[in-house]
Amino acid sequence: MPEVYEQFVGICHTLEDHYRDMQDMEFTIEDKKLYMLQTRNGKRTAKAALKIACDLVDEGMITEEKAVTMIDPRNLDTLLHPQFDADALKKAAPVAQALAASPGAACGKIVFTADDAKAWAARGEKVVLVRLETSPEDIEGMKASQGILTVRGGMTSHAAVVARGMGTCCVSGCSEIAMDEANKKFVLAGKEYHEGDWLSIDGSTGKIYDGIIPTVDATIAGEFGRIMAGLTNTEVKVRTNADTPADAKKARELGAEGIGLCRTEHMFFEGNRIDAFREMICAETLEEREAALEKILPEQQGDFEKLYEALEGNPVTIRFLDPPLHEFVPTEEEDIKKLADAQGKTVEQIKTIIDSLHEFNPMMGHRGCRLAVTYPEIAKMQTKAVIRAAINVKKAHADWNICPEIMIPLVGDDKELKFVKKIVVETADEEIKAAGADLKYEVGTMIEIPRACITADDIAKDAEFFCFGTNDLTQMTYGFSRDDAGKFLNAYYDAKIFENDPFAKLDQVGVGRLMETAIKLGKSVRPELHVGICGEHGGDPSSVEFCTSLALTTFPAPRSACRSRDWLRHRLP
Ligand code: PEP
Ligand code: MG
Repeated sequence: MPEVYEQFVGICHTLEDHYRDMQDMEFTIEDKKLYMLQTRNGKRTAKAALKIACDLVDEGMITEEKAVTMIDPRNLDTLLHPQFDADALKKAAPVAQALAASPGAACGKIVFTADDAKAWAARGEKVVLVRLETSPEDIEGMKASQGILTVRGGMTSHAAVVARGMGTCCVSGCSEIAMDEANKKFVLAGKEYHEGDWLSIDGSTGKIYDGIIPTVDATIAGEFGRIMAGLTNTEVKVRTNADTPADAKKARELGAEGIGLCRTEHMFFEGNRIDAFREMICAETLEEREAALEKILPEQQGDFEKLYEALEGNPVTIRFLDPPLHEFVPTEEEDIKKLADAQGKTVEQIKTIIDSLHEFNPMMGHRGCRLAVTYPEIAKMQTKAVIRAAINVKKAHADWNICPEIMIPLVGDDKELKFVKKIVVETADEEIKAAGADLKYEVGTMIEIPRACITADDIAKDAEFFCFGTNDLTQMTYGFSRDDAGKFLNAYYDAKIFENDPFAKLDQVGVGRLMETAIKLGKSVRPELHVGICGEHGGDPSSVEFCTSLALTTFPAPRSACRSRDWLRHRLP
């Protein structure tokens, strides 16, 4: 029926020209007569969406700006990470599903400790690290793994946040696993898994598969680059969350305009620094503490120099130490002994110190700016490292605009900020004077405690910028532990109390109102206040939209004062 075919093709063109989008059409032919039954915009994969959008631009059907809006940003992440081979996946059935905590697919042999992950990876094995939960001590093992699976934890627990930062696949909060870490085994879906058994996990869907599903690496086709280039023309600009020069460099390649959050604690685990930091934690006098920190100073300075180099003069916000100290102390007998020997103490003495650090509620405990209040030497050391690094890099690149942004975490009362800022300013000014340098720097704070939001006018007197730590702000506003909420959120969805995980999608009604209040109060005393977001919500499209509208509607100031471009400080994949 060549005529009917011609007619059909003509109608397809008419419809696609009319809707300016790829159509999914239904039709029938009866007695050689063509009937069109319906048409609608066709569903598409992320890869196809990019291709269709670029084709429509090339055909003159839509503008580049329109092309950007046709892409669902939630799907783009999947293009940047390894995926399961599509054919192999069709034959596989998941044995469980938990939280899709960090995108990408991974397949490897099960290991139960970070040390094993490192050792197995060093001999060329692909591994999936399975833990009850992870802690900063596991960083090196997490880096060595193809993927990470945890029994506990939510979207903003340690494993999830760190894995997203590393671009490593992670499935968290799989409470169906009956774990026996001591004997390196677990039971899932009726099967007992041991070290060395194969497991496949998908951090984009949260699905867990028994055995091997081969993965294919991500490829960034030309269309992806075109769409990203289109994005740089829009009003919303992005900084990255990055702690290593390699991550910062990658993010720059992908268009990040600066670092919005460098979590410095991750740097304390590199190489031998952890030994020095443990010595500082277990020190009993100021002199001992300062001597230990003195060992870390040049290393930390080197880290910051590399970050400034990677950013080539673009802004870098460095957050001072945040996690509770107990996260840094050794847990293995052999490491405890090593620390005891280094400090001339007995194993029992070290164990007593470690026990004394135990907290019932560490997330609300001795962390954030409270560390700088109890140990001003840490803030001093970090200030010296930041300022010395900035001075050095500025010397080498006179044309770069280096202005360190030092961010104090977990401030709830302006007096806390005042106290820590005084240490920072005195130390920084002394360093700048001693070097005979001309360096400007800013001291700001994270807004992550509800009290900080409702007293933001006080805080803004001392803070040169605000950055909303919406992970903690959500935790403290709801009173939900960011590490444990995963256990009961499913019941909340079933009971229709929640539609979404508030740690993934910003609670605009409650947390959002606190943010709005903080901006309003903050800008009332400091109209030029820079405002950003560095919680995980900075990567969620609807939360981004909300933040942008909040900044613009609440402060319809000239763009320079409004600085909507500072809103998004989140990690690029
Ligand atoms: C936050 O709380 O939102 C934040 C970015 O800090 P962290 O996740 O390191 O606590
Ligand atoms: Mg925080």
